[in-house]
Amino acid sequence: MSHAGAYHGAVTGSLALHPLAVPRSLAERGIDRVLVYRVPLTVRFRRIDVRDGLLLHGPAGWGETSPFWDYAPAESSAWLRAGIEGATASLPEAHRDRIPVNVTVPVVDPELAHRLVAGSGCRTAKVKVADPRTDLASDCARLEAVRDALGPEGLIRVDANAAWDVETAVRAIAELNRAAGGLEYAEQPCPGVEDLARVRRAVDVPIAADESVRRAEDPVAVARAHAADILIVKAQPLGGVRRALDVVEQAGLPAVVSSALDTSVGIGLASHLAAALPDLDHACGLATTRLFTGDVTADPMTPVDGSIPVRRCQVDQADAAEGDPQLCDRWAARLDAMLEVVDA
Ligand SMILES: [Mg+2]
Repeated sequence: MSHAGAYHGAVTGSLALHPLAVPRSLAERGIDRVLVYRVPLTVRFRRIDVRDGLLLHGPAGWGETSPFWDYAPAESSAWLRAGIEGATASLPEAHRDRIPVNVTVPVVDPELAHRLVAGSGCRTAKVKVADPRTDLASDCARLEAVRDALGPEGLIRVDANAAWDVETAVRAIAELNRAAGGLEYAEQPCPGVEDLARVRRAVDVPIAADESVRRAEDPVAVARAHAADILIVKAQPLGGVRRALDVVEQAGLPAVVSSALDTSVGIGLASHLAAALPDLDHACGLATTRLFTGDVTADPMTPVDGSIPVRRCQVDQADAAEGDPQLCDRWAARLDAMLEVVDA
């Protein structure tokens, strides 16, 4: 892996953009530019330090396709469908022009957690818990610091990323609920829908489903099983804005639109998904551009006073980059594999 200094074409911070040849089947859809982006994160998140992906330009503007590297072509193909939709399709009608967002608190010490929340302007915080490197006591300490920073009116949600079994989840949620002075909800305490339902019956804190929506064969199954109170929806893994709207409608549950650690292009499209929901009762997880050291646009989707605007984002200086052969080869091969699934 090359170091960041070897990359060119930065727009802001240490972001780099590299042009890729447009495959014929994308060109036939009207897509005229494909770029590879690569940007270091400000803090290790989801076990990665660098984010990379594709930006697609077409008649409607820019779309993003950035599946994580551990996703196989079949799962990644939904992310490509979303990118194609963003570049070629019109957006659904918006019911609001700003989206309230939560500040995300990674697994950091209480002092840093306090600073992140206090400086965010957000009134809702999402706190990552159940990381294998830490324990319940340090999760509780982080939650206490977050409550202190937010004040009594703020809302705190936790995300366990499916780390617990049922018994551990029930015990941990009770502890965390106490430490936080009340939780808005607990996100994906366990991996399976059955276990999620069991936890939901055993605790007073509402349960939100994330992995059970975006990585499931049937994203509505978790709602049918009464295993969640709230649905986390992400446009890329669900195959685009329209498809995500369908999932929410079929599930009949309140939704929280979240990013898949997208650049401002993906966040802009997600802001339109949030704007198109008939009801939006919870802050959305769309303040994640803070985790990037740079962005693809000169006008990023940065929250102001706890909300982001509803708008698409353009990629600036899209022609400025030189190629990084190794990174571009990897993405070209991956794009071909995803296209094989999409075109099948
Ligand atoms: Mg989550």
